Amino acid sequence: MEQVTETQAVACPHCGDTSTIPVPTADVDLQVRPYVAAFGEYRTIDCANDHTFWVYFC
Ligand SMILES: [Zn+2]
Repeated sequence: MEQVTETQAVACPHCGDTSTIPVPTADVDLQVRPYVAAFGEYRTIDCANDHTFWVYFC
């Protein structure tokens, strides 16, 4: 089975710096949040300026 890694660019909500993150599918909707919430699938991102934010897959 072929392993395909899709990525999307997300902007840090604090400084606007763009990070590229792996996503489950190419057409997934990403919701960027500056805090963690206990639902769904998400990824914790650290931007280049040391901000932490969370991206949810919808
Ligand atoms: Zn940032």
